[in-house]
Amino acid sequence: HAKDCGRRQAQYFNQAISTTAKARFQLESQLTEAIATDGLSVVYQPIMSADGHSVVSAEALVRWQHETQGFMSPAEFLPLAYDTGLIGSLDLWVLERVCRDIQRAREQELPMPPVAVNLSSDSIMDPLLADKVWERLQRYQVLGAQLELEVIEDAIKGNSTVLRQTLEELVRMGIKLSIDDFGTGYSSLLRLKNLPFTKLKIDRSFIQDLPQDADDCAITLSILGMARGLGVEVIAEGVENSEQEAWLQHQGCNYLQGFKYHKPMPVEAFMELLITT
Ligand code: C2E
Ligand code: MG
Ligand code: MG
Ligand code: MG
Repeated sequence: HAKDCGRRQAQYFNQAISTTAKARFQLESQLTEAIATDGLSVVYQPIMSADGHSVVSAEALVRWQHETQGFMSPAEFLPLAYDTGLIGSLDLWVLERVCRDIQRAREQELPMPPVAVNLSSDSIMDPLLADKVWERLQRYQVLGAQLELEVIEDAIKGNSTVLRQTLEELVRMGIKLSIDDFGTGYSSLLRLKNLPFTKLKIDRSFIQDLPQDADDCAITLSILGMARGLGVEVIAEGVENSEQEAWLQHQGCNYLQGFKYHKPMPVEAFMELLITT
């Protein structure tokens, strides 16, 4: 009996594994196809001046409208993109879509602020990244100054010559570089000082409970102080209410981003916003 039971369990287990594996494989090929056939989309979230009144730039965020699972957020499919090595082509797809949107805005004589594109650690470690970015800038006649790139803190922790060369080449094209989710990773002050980043984005987890949480206040203050010392600007992510805003303004934060101002929106809505404000 015990043996039977064990066998049955093993059977279930194998079935469960193969179902998951099948589902994963299916999702992987669907994502591959979505990247190849423009089945993804990009939404834009405005980044505001310190007073919270004007749009100074925007962050491009990827979305996937899945046939059966509906709208999927990056949290649901980026891990898969990383695991399967698709993340590099996904990043490039987003970069290209953003360049195309910038080109269209120019053709229609619409104002378009600089747009920040997120890069994975895979992309930033790709020795050909600078060439690939340059190629897109050329193809869509976009100036480097119209583009910013965000890299998460952990992606730059190694001491690689390739990384340094890539970052310097991007800066030479006029592209500004930001460190994303700052405070959650392990970058040292020295690395910050030695690499050509000009902005830090304080992770939403530190902003969320401002100004009630004393630890978060202390952490945010020390990031602001350090950034000022290094001559780097600071963006607060995930600002949702007036209390957070007032505190950040009082402490001299340079830029604010979050649902308090705008949620990420399709390019048409973003263009509309730029015209009407
Ligand atoms: P991130 O780069 O830190 O982007 C900010 C995330 O916070 C976005 O989530 C945005 O919608 C969300 N957010 C902004 N303001 C608020 C707020 O006030 N409250 C709350 N609760 N959330 C807010 P999203 O779009 O789901 O993206 C999640 C992450 O996925 C991004 O975090 C980024 O790390 C990654 N990601 C998004 N697009 C791309 C991409 O094209 N390439 C790569 N490599 N990663 C991407
Ligand atoms: Mg980002
Ligand atoms: Mg972030
Ligand atoms: Mg974040």
